[in-house]
Amino acid sequence: MSAPKLVQGYEVVIGFETHAQLSTQSKIFSRASVAFGAEPNTQACAVDLALPGTLPVMNKGAVERAIQFGLAIGSHIAPKSVFARKNYFYPDLPKGYQISQFEIPVVQGGEVDFFLGDEKKTVRLVRAHLEEDAGKSLHEDFIGQSGIDLNRAGTPLLEIVTEPDMRSSEEAVAYAKELHKIVTWIGICDGNMQEGSFRCDANVSVRKPGQPLGTRREIKNLNSFKFMQQAIDYEVRWQIEQIEDGHAIQQATVLFDPDTGETRAMRTKEDAADYRYFPDPDLPPLVIASEWIERVRSEMAELPRVMAARFVTDYGLPEYDATTLTQSKAMAAYFEAAAQTSKQPKLASNWIMGEVSRRINAGEIGIEQAPVSAAQLAALITRIADGTISNNAGRQVFDALWTGEGQDVDALIESKGLKQMNDSGALEQIIDEVIAANPDNVAQFKAGKDKAFNALVGQVMKASKGKANPQQVNDLLRSKLG
Ligand code: ADP
Ligand code: MG
Repeated sequence: MSAPKLVQGYEVVIGFETHAQLSTQSKIFSRASVAFGAEPNTQACAVDLALPGTLPVMNKGAVERAIQFGLAIGSHIAPKSVFARKNYFYPDLPKGYQISQFEIPVVQGGEVDFFLGDEKKTVRLVRAHLEEDAGKSLHEDFIGQSGIDLNRAGTPLLEIVTEPDMRSSEEAVAYAKELHKIVTWIGICDGNMQEGSFRCDANVSVRKPGQPLGTRREIKNLNSFKFMQQAIDYEVRWQIEQIEDGHAIQQATVLFDPDTGETRAMRTKEDAADYRYFPDPDLPPLVIASEWIERVRSEMAELPRVMAARFVTDYGLPEYDATTLTQSKAMAAYFEAAAQTSKQPKLASNWIMGEVSRRINAGEIGIEQAPVSAAQLAALITRIADGTISNNAGRQVFDALWTGEGQDVDALIESKGLKQMNDSGALEQIIDEVIAANPDNVAQFKAGKDKAFNALVGQVMKASKGKANPQQVNDLLRSKLG
């Protein structure tokens, strides 16, 4: 492991708590719908509000998603976990408590691996537990009033908690992106950050290297990767400034304001004891039989890291390529189709990580919307691999495919006159002419000047109108000059 990067002599320490909204149809303890965007208070039923006489009933689909998550990151799935009441007062929580898991969570331990640049990182998870969401306060500035929308009350969440393992805002964002990839890949969460389906709280502290952990402040509800980075960077600078000015950091919960780019204290942080947690008497312990876990395991699709390992063994790709290509299911499928059709996995990888990625990033589209299909890319790669066209010509064909100028690779090569000259007889004739016309260069080459050789290659390429195969030109020229 490389030494941690310091900020003004301080080491940054970050731990994440992420709330992933589970992709069930109904709530975690009731049959009310969780569909986004409904009229306020049309999707909260008596159970969600814990009206007297109602009883919560566990949603099996939410449990199954928690199991899937645990299996995806190599956690222990607790055979018996317990729901607890977390007691607090807030207008959006008329029940007076939130049903969560405290002492015994359903998912325990596990690891998230990812690349930060080309360095491999591992963040350990403490736990992931099931809980219900609260309602929402809506502040209607134009009438000077606030209202409560309880539609979100009882929405199933998986709260995923890491150890304080991250050492920079870049690493924190890379972790969050990896986690986002995992939950969306296995389909337990739609990952929609604008709608709040994937919300990250970053716990941030700083310390001098070798010192015990500093006091942390928790930045709440970071719902974009860009804000995440900005908020942590601001918070780190703020904490260092405080300490340098001789102030102690107070444990607190803070909010990030994207308009000012600053974090602001919201409240001093409660301790677990303030919540008076106790087991919820309305819910029996959550029992998960090993058969259930095995059934879920057998039904799960191949995971990104398993698929990446397979790309290394089956296609001989470097680990970096394999990890990059398994950023999403769609990209992985695109690669496999192109690699298998062209039988040129490394070339397919280079093209997808290069030209294709550049285009989809610039257009802010997913690879599903790419106007060049995997089959078209495979056809293009095949023509490069068999020497019909050069890499450069390949880029022109790719351009034409992307902009819709043509659909068929061979037809485009033909109409644009991009075929390389593979007729060695014709090429030899050009080379003989170039040698005859450039005695100075030839003499310099024989005197050991490599530059002169390159000049001769350039002359041949020019005389062939760029259609000669550069490798072939090199070989023939060298043999002719002895
Ligand atoms: P709480 O019960 O108050 O939520 P936890 O012990 O569960 O506290 O920790 C919450 C999160 O804060 C975890 O992700 C953990 O890794 C992180 N964390 C704990 N201590 C520190 C620290 N000193 N600096 C940064 N992060 C921390
Ligand atoms: Mg916590």
